Formats: sequence, structure tokens, C-alpha cells
Amino acid sequence: MKRRYLLVCDHASNAMMEREHHTAYDIGAAGVTRRLAELLDAPAIYSSVSRLIIDCNRTPAADDPNVAAYFTPYHDAIEAAVEKMVDPVFLSIHSMTPELDGVARPWQIALSSYTDRRLTDPVLAALRAFGDITVGDNEPYDIDPAVDYTTPVHAIRRGLLHLQVEFRQDEVATESGQLWWAERFAQAIGTL
Ligand SMILES: [Zn+2]
Repeated sequence: MKRRYLLVCDHASNAMMEREHHTAYDIGAAGVTRRLAELLDAPAIYSSVSRLIIDCNRTPAADDPNVAAYFTPYHDAIEAAVEKMVDPVFLSIHSMTPELDGVARPWQIALSSYTDRRLTDPVLAALRAFGDITVGDNEPYDIDPAVDYTTPVHAIRRGLLHLQVEFRQDEVATESGQLWWAERFAQAIGTL
């Protein structure tokens, strides 16, 4: 049976912040997600607000006034898509800053996982098989259900096949970079 993919992009937007800075949103992630959605013929759901307003990948404070406006509609849309699609492969798309605290990150792309590595391991192998890509495996980030929200709640809890990926922002800052990386990633997924 053909796999059906669902794409989500927690940090797609810098709306309301108007800041071209990695603390406001995941630079390039929305563009890569759009390209991947085309290549995989998959629906994609994007958060509509900067994580400086509310981080859609964190459990919100109960009294945060942005929950009803931004957090709940985003996660309700993901829930509805998961229910409608019946066991989609869940793809969570992020981007990471090329350096943090003065330390450069060597990984052009990185997969984050928790204990279920059914897709992580073969996709890591496929990315490495290109031979010219530096790939991170749970570095710089893993998935921690005590910290992260989206993949644990929508995918891990249900036992859905899933991948969480970080593209380095200098690689996906331009449209051509977004297309190149979306194509590489779709190829890697295509080897499953
Ligand atoms: Zn992110």
C-alpha cells in the first residue's frame, strides 16, 4: 500500500514578530515543507504564529492567552488530519540555526528520535548513502516527550510511523536550497 504522509511545521511563521531571526521561527522550514508536500503529494499543516508568541511544540501554560488563538487550532487541525488519513506517516519539519553560542554545527540535516526508530534508522542510512551530506543522529536535538509536544502527542502516543527532521538554516534559506533539500529528503524517504 502506498504510504500516506502528513507534514507538520511547528515553527513555520514569524507572524507578529517581523523578525528574520532564528529565535522567532524556523527559517526555511515552511519552504521545505511546501516542496515536500508537493513531492510526496501530502497535506501540510503550518503553525501561524511565531514561537516567541507561543511555541506550538511545547505544552503551554494553562493561562497563556495565546492557547485558544493559536495553539489549539493548530493542534486540532493536526488531530483532524491524522483521524481522517488513518495512520499516516507523520513528518515533523524543523530548521536549526547554523551555530549556537559561537559553536558551528556540522550537520546539514539531522533526525531527532525517541525510542521508536523504525523510520529514523533507514532514512539516516539513505541520507548517508548520498555520500556528501553530513547527517546528525539525535544531535543537536533528540525528541524528549517531557519537553517536546507535537511528535510525542500526535505520533508517538498513537504508534504512528514518524520522522522529525532539522534542516540547517543556511542550507534552506533560499528557494533553490529548499527545493534541493526537499528532493534529497524525499529521495531518502522513497527508499523505505
Ligand atoms: Zn522548530
